[in-house]
Amino acid sequence: MECRDIRCPVHGGNAPRGINLTGKVVSDKAKRTVIVETDFAKYVYKYERSLRKRSRIPAHNPECINARTGNVVNISETRRMSKTKSFVVTGIVK
Ligand SMILES: [Zn+2]
Repeated sequence: MECRDIRCPVHGGNAPRGINLTGKVVSDKAKRTVIVETDFAKYVYKYERSLRKRSRIPAHNPECINARTGNVVNISETRRMSKTKSFVVTGIVK
């Protein structure tokens, strides 16, 4: 299938820059957008322990990658594409 998505990092003009993250797709309901959940540990100095946290990041899902719920994906920061979306899926890990 030919990819004609102008926001695709490979076939369009949407160069990734900034931070790269890996996370799990928890929602693919929106068209060409997925919600990616990432786990990270935040250290709390007061209690000298780390706290597990989660963040949900809306990311653009190009047609040529087509990530689905349950996939583990790499995402990269890119230009802002909408009010909440400024990440793009760059590949499926598994
Ligand atoms: Zn593409």
